[in-house]
Amino acid sequence: MRNDNKFTFIALAFVVFALITGFIYYKGRNRHPFRYYITDEVQQWLKEQNDAGIIDTPIKVQDHGPYDFSNKSDLGATDDKWGSISDDCFIVYYEGNNMENNAKNIIQEANRIIPDLKTTMGKFYYPSDVLDNRKLPIYLAASNESYDATICRLFGDKCNTANTSGMTVCTVSSAGTSVEGIVLHPDVFSYSYGQERYRKTLRHEMNHYVFYLSSDFSKVNDHPDWVIEGIAKYFEADAPQISDADSIKFISKYCKLDKDFPENNQSQYWAGASFYKFVADSCGINEQREFLNSLYSNNLEVALHSIFPDSVDVKNKWTQSLVQSMEQKTMLTEEQ
Ligand SMILES: [Zn+2]
Repeated sequence: MRNDNKFTFIALAFVVFALITGFIYYKGRNRHPFRYYITDEVQQWLKEQNDAGIIDTPIKVQDHGPYDFSNKSDLGATDDKWGSISDDCFIVYYEGNNMENNAKNIIQEANRIIPDLKTTMGKFYYPSDVLDNRKLPIYLAASNESYDATICRLFGDKCNTANTSGMTVCTVSSAGTSVEGIVLHPDVFSYSYGQERYRKTLRHEMNHYVFYLSSDFSKVNDHPDWVIEGIAKYFEADAPQISDADSIKFISKYCKLDKDFPENNQSQYWAGASFYKFVADSCGINEQREFLNSLYSNNLEVALHSIFPDSVDVKNKWTQSLVQSMEQKTMLTEEQ
């Protein structure tokens, strides 16, 4: 009898152990950033993205892990021209003593952005969420030349930095996705650009940080540029409202949801942001987050279907909503 009890106890202990192990595995299974095998097809796709040089997030591909994700091998930690300050989540590398105050402001601002990212993107990646407890590095370059050089060194190759005020450099490898760092142009702190410029640029780039760490690179998920730039622009918090006939006409004529929006007037940013605003206004903020959540691992068609299951012409609904808001604005102006 005593032996029976012993056996029951061992069996029960085993079942409890198996259940706990299973639960931990289940919870961790979809933990981001994903670990995956990078196929040749994905490598080729990312290379083409970088060669096109349109988006402000160069992605380098490393064939093999394991890869050291810790901040020990950061460019800012190994090159002694950088000063640094850090807190629990961020490490800001800055050039020259007069950048120290800016670095303090950036740490404060970055922490303020975290709750907004959770609301909009569904997630923020703390060091405990990523491999080797990596803190997000933010580089404050002191000159235009240093801005270009820092981005290219982080990327490890020639890169196109033209006309950008910030860039986010990512690495995709079989050990997972990592962000090498966000680099900010010194002009974002210049008063001639307005005091809010650094805040907007930081919000924009931190939005890219979450989007890319959330993305499943085990397959080609070739979103049009407006999908990624539109949400980053929208997240800058005061994206311009489209309420003039010319912009609406432009969207109606040239912005096809399944394609890249025209680059010549940066419509992937302003028109892309307008689409996300339309989703938030017409479906709600939760649905907008659902849409993003679907985009992390599905193509645009699937993601659109997840929030507009019955609609055959989402584009039409979008432009109609813009026409309506233009008419309301006109009526308000006439009344005044
Ligand atoms: Zn961007």
